[in-house]
Amino acid sequence: MNETSKTAGPAGSRRGLLHLAACLSGAALCVAAMPQAQAAALSKASVGYRDIPSDKGKVCANCALFILPAQGAAHARCKLVAGPISPAGWCQIWTPRS
Ligand code: SF4
Repeated sequence: MNETSKTAGPAGSRRGLLHLAACLSGAALCVAAMPQAQAAALSKASVGYRDIPSDKGKVCANCALFILPAQGAAHARCKLVAGPISPAGWCQIWTPRS
């Protein structure tokens, strides 16, 4: 094992995940100010979306990116994830409300 492979282990992965989280939270802040037509650019598959909550009580309904259904609309939406969103759903970029 050389020096490079030592740094590419779990610590390197954690650093990558932290970087991704920082980018996503920055994106969330940017998207909050975007017109709806420009938002919802991520596919459900790319963020691991599912219609059931995480095992830690994280659900779309308590995510900062969740958009309540418009009056008369059948489904809720998300500021970043395209398509109909279940209030009881969850994905990997869940962001707590501040
Ligand atoms: S958990 Fe994911 S899909 Fe659900 S509202 Fe938050 S960002 Fe959107």
